[in-house]
Amino acid sequence: MSENKKAEKILGVKGMNDILPADAPLWELFENTVQSVLKSYGYQQIRTPIVEPTPLFARGLGAVTDIVEKEMYSFVDSMNGDQLTLRPESTAGVVRSVLEHNLTYEGPKRLWYAGPMFRHEKPQRGRYRQFHQVGAEAIGFTGPDIDAELIMLCQRLWDDLGLENIRLELNSIGNAEERNRHRTDLIAYFEQHKDLLDADAQRRLHSNPLRILDTKNPAMQDMVNKAPQLLDYLGEESRAHFEGVQRILRNNSIPFTINPRLVRGMDYYNRTVFEWVTDQLGSQGTVCGGGRYDPLIEMFGGKPTPACGFAIGVERLLELIKASGEQFTPNQCDVYVVHQGEAAQMQAFVVAERLRDAGLDVVLNCASSNGGASFKSQMKRADASGASFAVIIGDDEVAKGIVAVKNLRSDDIENNQTTIPFESVINHIVEQIICGDECDDPTHHHH
Ligand code: ATP
Ligand code: MG
Repeated sequence: MSENKKAEKILGVKGMNDILPADAPLWELFENTVQSVLKSYGYQQIRTPIVEPTPLFARGLGAVTDIVEKEMYSFVDSMNGDQLTLRPESTAGVVRSVLEHNLTYEGPKRLWYAGPMFRHEKPQRGRYRQFHQVGAEAIGFTGPDIDAELIMLCQRLWDDLGLENIRLELNSIGNAEERNRHRTDLIAYFEQHKDLLDADAQRRLHSNPLRILDTKNPAMQDMVNKAPQLLDYLGEESRAHFEGVQRILRNNSIPFTINPRLVRGMDYYNRTVFEWVTDQLGSQGTVCGGGRYDPLIEMFGGKPTPACGFAIGVERLLELIKASGEQFTPNQCDVYVVHQGEAAQMQAFVVAERLRDAGLDVVLNCASSNGGASFKSQMKRADASGASFAVIIGDDEVAKGIVAVKNLRSDDIENNQTTIPFESVINHIVEQIICGDECDDPTHHHH
């Protein structure tokens, strides 16, 4: 093998990231926090496949959305000719599953999901081709109360994560009839200002003029700001619903601003739409988007069922946590076991297993290709692992029935190592770690 030409490395797909061990603790912290917040509101997890039939998205998201127009990873299964798509979002799949299994038969459902999504976008900061979302879908609820609950759930999550720089933007996009009346006036207005429309807006003028309001083109801001506002077209019921959401938010001290230009990318939204936005991530500042989508379930062949949900962009949120300056570099283990000689290795395995029985995280030094078998290099690894203690076993120790225990975090470098009879080592370390925690660092809890 080594005499052949060196094999070329195959790199990962552009825009699809590896989540490396250094970032894993941050992901775990986020996932644990999100799970417990969702649980505290009674949401149940649903896991749907990553691949769905292409028509599910074409029908669900609307043919003129960015996603369906140009972002979907669609392919034909060469084994049987099926048209398939890597999911670009999860609402469509969740709704499909709810209908397929008749999940709302016994009443409304609070659901949540997490996982990778796929969109063929231009990769840049905060915009990837594989990214992750955590989302909630509340299916079968009619009133503004569930809209407010979903928003408050997000606020609690930001609070639990210690995030302060996220603000809530809220709008109502009414129902189809209200949007139609607005749309007619909007198209007329844009036609009056046709010279100011960029190519994207020209293209959308008749297909999806509402999305023009969402433009990021600075040259269009002024004109777009003066366009007819959908809020002025809301009828009695839509208005009451929107006011209901706001009343609950105010009563629970959730700050928000009404952004009359806020529309969501997907066609299926109605009434309440919201986004959580930060200024700390450059132009990809939306960390969560959501809203009500009452028409969707009927579009999928179910009986009319109201619904509301949100999706958090996990990568963007984690960037924000990093930007907030908190450091997450937890230790790899509590105890690192160093050993030399065959008999010592046998003892080392026994000690490591007993320490794990006692609930500690233990790394046992194992043979590796880059040397590192000497005591000295094993001790270096012990130190780098972040362990509080090293257990050291050599032939000498085996002969005497003892082990050496070194406190790796002690300032007293003269007296940081003791020898303990083999039988008492577990108790000794467990006591030290528990006492050490309680004495020095009350925030660090142990199993
Ligand atoms: P944008 O306007 O930024 O394209 P969107 O409206 O397409 O967002 P949604 O479909 O509402 O986004 O998805 C919810 C959230 O998922 C977004 O607010 C964002 O945080 C995240 N997200 C969307 N697309 C990507 C992507 N390509 N890479 C990383 N995160 C994404
Ligand atoms: Mg998008």
